[in-house]
Amino acid sequence: PTSIVDEVGLALANLADTATGAFVPTLRLGVTGLSRAGKTIFITALVHNLLTSGRLAGFAPMAEGRFIGARLAEYPDATIPRFAYEQHLASLTADPPHWPEGTRRISQLRLVLKYHSKRWRNGMRNPATLNLDIVDYPGEWLLDLPLLSQSFQEWSTEALERARRPASQHEAGPFLSVLEGIDPAKPASDADAEALAAAFTQYLRLSREDGRALSTLPPGRFLMPGDLEGSPALTFAPLPPQKGTDRHSLYHMLEQRFEAYKDQVVRPFFKDHFLRLDRQVVLVDALRALNAGPDAIADLESALTSVLSCFRQGEQNPLSRLVSRRIDRILFAATKADHLHHTSHDRLETILNRLLSSASRRARFAGAETKSIALAAIRATREGSITENGEELPTIIGTPVAGQHFDGTTYDGKTDIAFFPGDLPERTDSVFEDDGNEVHLNFLRFTPPRRLQRAENGELILPHIRFDRAVDYLIGDWLK
Ligand code: GDP
Repeated sequence: PTSIVDEVGLALANLADTATGAFVPTLRLGVTGLSRAGKTIFITALVHNLLTSGRLAGFAPMAEGRFIGARLAEYPDATIPRFAYEQHLASLTADPPHWPEGTRRISQLRLVLKYHSKRWRNGMRNPATLNLDIVDYPGEWLLDLPLLSQSFQEWSTEALERARRPASQHEAGPFLSVLEGIDPAKPASDADAEALAAAFTQYLRLSREDGRALSTLPPGRFLMPGDLEGSPALTFAPLPPQKGTDRHSLYHMLEQRFEAYKDQVVRPFFKDHFLRLDRQVVLVDALRALNAGPDAIADLESALTSVLSCFRQGEQNPLSRLVSRRIDRILFAATKADHLHHTSHDRLETILNRLLSSASRRARFAGAETKSIALAAIRATREGSITENGEELPTIIGTPVAGQHFDGTTYDGKTDIAFFPGDLPERTDSVFEDDGNEVHLNFLRFTPPRRLQRAENGELILPHIRFDRAVDYLIGDWLK
């Protein structure tokens, strides 16, 4: 548990601007979401818009003319990787532009924002300053929370039950046969541990592939190892319970590694990073799940349930005792809204809310306010319409990423197309219930926007959808 001394140290570290000695408040903003949800793009767009005073009409400090500007600053903790903003922006604005690689581990970045507070009058001296610390981390890591209150035996029992479900046969089969061939009571050996861990990891990976139903199984680091790839803390797997295990057995070895994973990997992440956040945005790729069908929706819902449980307070949450600084706002954002015509954006928001409310049915977020927005941090499409059989259909226009197929065409990554993405259902429950009314979306990946415009100040403008509202919700009130 964090001691009071830790907390005081933390509070001071957050207030003191080491360069000038002046006290500067710091807002720590967490950005998370499962792999490919859009974290890297969200952060790159956020940083670019703040650094260049971009077009964020719904961000009150800019709309009110109080935002002065931002600059990048050295991050106070030199041991944490820096978010590679410049590289990501370079990919997005290259010719031709391409999407950068997504988040694989935790990284951070500090921006210093200057603004006039609302009380500021002409002739008053100093503008106000805020440090904005952005913390990017894989949502998969949040799936590990329940492990903290489980023993190796409890976790194993649950994990093996899941692996043995008939629906998991395809993914879990090879792991189960490796398991069958190894007696957990035999003397510990690294080779056995590695064989089991490799087969188990492969099972978790296969479960995540498109069209499969189970993307959400812990341990989270098996899917997103960060810098721990191949280390003993990740070299374990569930084993059937044993009666009276020997200290030299394989079972004992893996049990020790499971405990080490909890103590040396999971707990430090929550304590050193997660619990220090003030605000959080959780990105959700609802469109991909909608497109993949009811299993993927159910799966996304269960992943969100696990993710959300980290933000809750109460007996069920092993972090509760540690929670002292509390996240007071959580934004849920359905990303990539530019894959839909704007007439569907509100529906996407409704669907996101629907997913979240079933995910959080049994618990509330004590103290935290939440909001849902459908957005595109970087808009890759325009809108148009086509007439088909006398009916006017709203279309989106963009450049599909090379190599995708649709309707008998393979795209070359250079040609714009206009197409009808499909409608989101008006009644959101039809997405979730099997009433023969399943949504069908035409979901293609588009290249980042080409031919970006420049603002009067010469800076590139990144087009977006509702991104300004998200920024306002996350940081606007700190710039009052
Ligand atoms: P991460 O794994 O959460 O960091 O995900 P990324 O930010 O790398 O996003 C994954 C992919 O989603 C990108 O390569 C893009 O293809 C797509 N994507 C993310 N954000 C947007 C967006 O705002 N608009 C569009 N059209 N695509 C996006």
